[in-house]
Amino acid sequence: MNKPDQSSVPESYRSGPDENGHFGIFGGRFVAETLMPLILEVENAYNKYKDDPEFKSELSYFSKDYVGRPSPLYLAQRLTDQLGGAKVYFKRDELNHTGAHKINNTLGQILLAKRMGKKRIIAETGAGQHGVATATVCALFNLPCVVYMGAKDIERQAPNVFRMKLLGAEIIPVISGTATLKDAMNDALRDWVTNVEDTFYIIGTAAGPHPYPEMVRDFQSIIGIEARAQILEQENRLPDTIIACIGGGSNAIGLFHPFLDDSSVNIIGVEAAGFGIESGQHAASLTGGKPGVLHGNRTFLLQDGDGQIIDAHSISAGLDYPGIGPEHSWLHDVGRVEYVSVTDDEALEGFQLCCRTEGIIPALEPAHALAHVSKIAPRMGKDQIIVMNLCGRGDKDVFTVAKALGVEI
Ligand SMILES: *Cc1c(COP(=O)(O)O)cnc(C)c1O
Repeated sequence: MNKPDQSSVPESYRSGPDENGHFGIFGGRFVAETLMPLILEVENAYNKYKDDPEFKSELSYFSKDYVGRPSPLYLAQRLTDQLGGAKVYFKRDELNHTGAHKINNTLGQILLAKRMGKKRIIAETGAGQHGVATATVCALFNLPCVVYMGAKDIERQAPNVFRMKLLGAEIIPVISGTATLKDAMNDALRDWVTNVEDTFYIIGTAAGPHPYPEMVRDFQSIIGIEARAQILEQENRLPDTIIACIGGGSNAIGLFHPFLDDSSVNIIGVEAAGFGIESGQHAASLTGGKPGVLHGNRTFLLQDGDGQIIDAHSISAGLDYPGIGPEHSWLHDVGRVEYVSVTDDEALEGFQLCCRTEGIIPALEPAHALAHVSKIAPRMGKDQIIVMNLCGRGDKDVFTVAKALGVEI
């Protein structure tokens, strides 16, 4: 873990970003001039509505009756017994409608888009999970939905492509660059500039230009707000450690943010180490990347020697974003959060352990967090508590896992 530079320790870790969207030297708003008025419009609307009682009450109505919140905080007793150390709790966000945390964010953003009078929604997607969560809320609120997706990803993620179509979305294949997520996001930003009047861009993780990292974090913070209240209710104290996996970092910052000023709580983010950091084929932006600018913000990125963005690799499609939200880069810099990485093989172990001990098939993304839990829990006391975000279910991943295990179905 980074040792904090004492002179840079802020009074609160929860007060960022500043008015220009900076978390320390990270974040900001690196966009073309033509995009600036749109971004400012989103920022003004978000600031206007985020504390508006009617907005909050509509968001909480759909979160409860449509998404199924609050998600339970569940004591994974058999896993705990098996690991033989700390008590492990799962925050059950895999029980949400559509099977992951992404809907917390798309619901919030579409309610904002509606209030802004927008008539058309666009989104980028990699594995298709954010595309499905966006297409879902577009069907619910009767707004046309256009999803930008890399041509390579369209080939690899056929079931999600079909799901989006069933939900009424139009998929636009992106063939520029490496025809993957980062290119899809570039094209979505381009679409937005050319359809200034009527379009709202729903970004899928806590990245992009200000105010997106802050706005997505706030919508995902429901995870940590609930978990904090639930653990206080169930254990009468705060956890010793909280932990979540990181692609762009939205489920993690959602869990972490309400705990950032609880100095007794150890916070761990788990990146995907793919075939191993040394292999160069991974998705660990903090462990194996360096600062640069992509998609409108300064943050840690996977880059080659010439500063070109390189494609990420992970067995889990949802983790292979070559960047990370700027707030995580800052939390890494100031040393408040510890960032570790877990390989494909370790994640596969975590995946199977969860299936067999708890009867829960997790998504491969949180299987990375599970793998790290299985490393640290045995070294902790039985009176200690870990809360892990189980941010997605594994139905989508069974074919990938079968292939990795050499099983034909
Ligand atoms: C998309 C996804 C992720 C990665 O996104 P974050 O913004 O880092 O949360 C992780 N888990 C699941 C289940 C996902 O669908």
